[in-house]
Amino acid sequence: MPDQQQILTTLKEYFGYDSFRPLQEEIISSIFKSKDNLVIMPTGGGKSICYQLPALLLPGVTLVISPLIALMKDQVDGLSANGINAAFINSSQHENEQQEIYQKILDKQLKLLYVAPESLSFLDTVLSQVVVSLIAIDEAHCISSWGHDFRPAYTQLGYLKNKFPKTPVIALTATADKATRQDICNQLNIPNATQHLASFDRKNLSLEVRPGNKRIEQILNFLEERPNESGIIYCLSRKATETIAEKLQNQGFNAQAYHAGIDHQKRATVQENFVNDSLQIVCATIAFGMGIDKSNVRWVIHYNLPKNIEGYYQEIGRAGRDGLPSSTLLFHSYADVVQLQKFADMSGNKDVQLAKLDRMKQYAESLSCRRKILLSYFGELIVDDCGNCDVCKNPPTFIDGTILAQKVLSTVTRIKEQEPIGTVIDVLRGAQNATVFDKGYQHLKSYKIGNDIPWKDWQQYIIQLINQGYLEIAFHQNNKIKLTSLSKKVLFENEKISLAHLKDFEKAKQIITEV
Ligand code: ADP
Ligand code: ZN
Repeated sequence: MPDQQQILTTLKEYFGYDSFRPLQEEIISSIFKSKDNLVIMPTGGGKSICYQLPALLLPGVTLVISPLIALMKDQVDGLSANGINAAFINSSQHENEQQEIYQKILDKQLKLLYVAPESLSFLDTVLSQVVVSLIAIDEAHCISSWGHDFRPAYTQLGYLKNKFPKTPVIALTATADKATRQDICNQLNIPNATQHLASFDRKNLSLEVRPGNKRIEQILNFLEERPNESGIIYCLSRKATETIAEKLQNQGFNAQAYHAGIDHQKRATVQENFVNDSLQIVCATIAFGMGIDKSNVRWVIHYNLPKNIEGYYQEIGRAGRDGLPSSTLLFHSYADVVQLQKFADMSGNKDVQLAKLDRMKQYAESLSCRRKILLSYFGELIVDDCGNCDVCKNPPTFIDGTILAQKVLSTVTRIKEQEPIGTVIDVLRGAQNATVFDKGYQHLKSYKIGNDIPWKDWQQYIIQLINQGYLEIAFHQNNKIKLTSLSKKVLFENEKISLAHLKDFEKAKQIITEV
């Protein structure tokens, strides 16, 4: 294993940096100990060096699996410019080009080899003849159908660990909730991988949610306050990106549409102009932004509700990479929820998708600090409100919710975290139905301790507790309500809980029909 000094020298020599960013060093040293690793780090956090640097110091070749064929060439060019021997293999190449690379692998000339998962099988024989020192799986969330960007070609990657049992694997992604993280590790056959979770807190991004009525008018006002600042408007449909871009152009704004249906050349131009600041606004479907290196995106607007929090967080994360204050605005409309429910209904993983959408909707309707919700979704529990979201800036009226919270949490404890929200409320209210009687919940101490409060109100209080991180929903276990590490503060340390008054909740939930 190389020593500290050798690692730092390599960092300086090949990448030009004097020090590591948070987590990079511990990840790298874990690789040198031949351990398997899962890295969850936001975009721009510095994931690449975590495998590129070890690749330079390990004896054989490092295999990098990446779905982003379009970006492989750039990555390899970047590495070559730094004097690192790297190449890529994907379906865009001619056969003789690939043959040349096979030869380089056999001649042990390469330190890094980028491969699209679809092309991996062609390499099988070549790889059997060389030492593979490290396997890096980029965008690892693509392997899980529980994640938000499932790619079937990823599902075969588990065989790599079987083929190279002694080679450490490092899986990297910018987005994965707790259950998805475990699913990634299981599918890659690295169930005991060390998980490295970087902080997702992007304090420079302000968070705001508004009812989605008269959206164009609101956007025009928003833009007026931000002359010449560049930003992205995410839309659900291709059609919407075009209509909105046109409306903005008619008002004299420098805006273009971007979606997968636009021809390749035109798309590349839009992207290029946006990156070099000659295009101010891109109206895009989610296809836009993956891998784009533009640090001065000052705002991101979601014209439509995103289908889950992972996607939303990744998209707003494209703003303010330079660390300067940047704004994000989400429009919440009931019509979007209905539309997204239809999509989810048609998807393979219906229940999970619907539960994730529900969580997104709760975020939009929340009366708790929005950053707390986002971070707790990714397993990061913060105690203080952020001060940089619309709820913090314009707080609702609060009531002392300590006793309510104690009642809920003790009920969840007594039913052994085995039930979804509806049954928790049934037990609290002393419902007399089959679920309750079948499981004998009527004998619990918690039974009926909350029958003075209407069902719907309990529901809102419990959602607030989830939003504040005192409970969580296990999406992959039939939405059972689970305790979190914060729960014990309420149960055993008498922590004071504030809950929003429910009259404010009705206000936040205004139903919007205008599109
Ligand atoms: P990610 O893959 O997590 O989105 P990258 O690996 O592309 O992030 O890194 C993001 C940016 O941060 C790149 O410009 C990279 O050169 C830079 N970077 C990475 N590590 C360091 C470091 N230790 N010091 C300074 N800059 C770094
Ligand atoms: Zn806040």
